[in-house]
Amino acid sequence: MTYATRTDLFRPEILAMSAYKVADASGMIKLDAMENPYGWPEDIKTSWLAAIQDCPLNRYPDPEAQQLRATLRELENIPEAFDILLGNGSDEIIQMLLMALPANACVLAPAPGFVMYKQLSDSLSLRYQAIPVVADSFGLDLPAMLMAIAEHQPSVIFIAYPNNPTGNLFDSQAIEAIIQAAQGLVVIDEAYAPFANASFMDKLAMYDNLLVMRTVSKLGLAGLRLGYLVGKPYWLEQLNKIRLPYNINSLTQITADFALNNKSLFDKQTQQICAQRTLLLAQLNALDGLVAYPSAANFILFRTLPRQADVIFASLKAQGVLIKNLSPQGGLLADCLRVTVGTPEENAAFMKALHHSLGLGG
Ligand SMILES: *Cc1c(COP(=O)(O)O)cnc(C)c1O
Repeated sequence: MTYATRTDLFRPEILAMSAYKVADASGMIKLDAMENPYGWPEDIKTSWLAAIQDCPLNRYPDPEAQQLRATLRELENIPEAFDILLGNGSDEIIQMLLMALPANACVLAPAPGFVMYKQLSDSLSLRYQAIPVVADSFGLDLPAMLMAIAEHQPSVIFIAYPNNPTGNLFDSQAIEAIIQAAQGLVVIDEAYAPFANASFMDKLAMYDNLLVMRTVSKLGLAGLRLGYLVGKPYWLEQLNKIRLPYNINSLTQITADFALNNKSLFDKQTQQICAQRTLLLAQLNALDGLVAYPSAANFILFRTLPRQADVIFASLKAQGVLIKNLSPQGGLLADCLRVTVGTPEENAAFMKALHHSLGLGG
């Protein structure tokens, strides 16, 4: 055997995994990744360039990102009693949390859910338990969750609020019952908070085992890679030992601070996206053979007639519109597609292409 083909060097779990795949979107109307479709006005761009102009790129970044953390605390109303841990995207925060767990620890989350919980658990050889949500409503199956907690004693439970890829907000009382029943940590992943009008941030003081995770990605800064975790200083102190010292680069620190101080711009964009979400949901549900599910996020999940999802996805792609095909994941997501809410023009182009895909002309 040559070194190039040795299969005993890495853990078998790694060999069994597939890399996280991102579709090539060049030249397409990109409605697959929950990005904010809007750019910045020229005057904001000019002030931003001035803000990064003197960034000392020859120096390492501030390892504590003190300015940025202070800005986050102030603008996101994070109470003094809780610490803020920054990550290179919230993906990195999930990874840090999981790296801190003992070997063979259990990680639990509702399914369908955010794929990185499982991906990162697998990569660290942790035991991942997916508990199906209720069919049709996509709500939490609270009895099943409580039973699984008793049986598996998970070290960490991830709950995306709103959930990805279903878009719904789980019942907050059910989540609180889970937090109360859990022996381990419960992370409420609020990646879609800007579109949701709901949060567990104000419940942090009530539960010692609660952590709230946010990101600026879906707000409109996906390219920066910045996520943050808020919780009791004791937990964050431990995780901070795992964090790479310079995980938030200088340009991200300056740019995120600048952007947060211009938050009214994002608030306006977020309002436009939410208004378009309402419109798009109604348009999808007006089509025969489609069921679109209500969403508190910046995307909409919809179900096609049986075995039509792959065909419709491919047809949209051929027309230059890229959305996400979830049907291959099967289970509750069979025949499901997910579209990110774009600009009015992008959404209209998507609807026009969808009409064509469904053989409705137009
Ligand atoms: C997009 C997403 C994230 C990842 O966010 P990044 O900060 O870009 O890494 C985390 N959780 C959920 C539920 C998401 O949908």
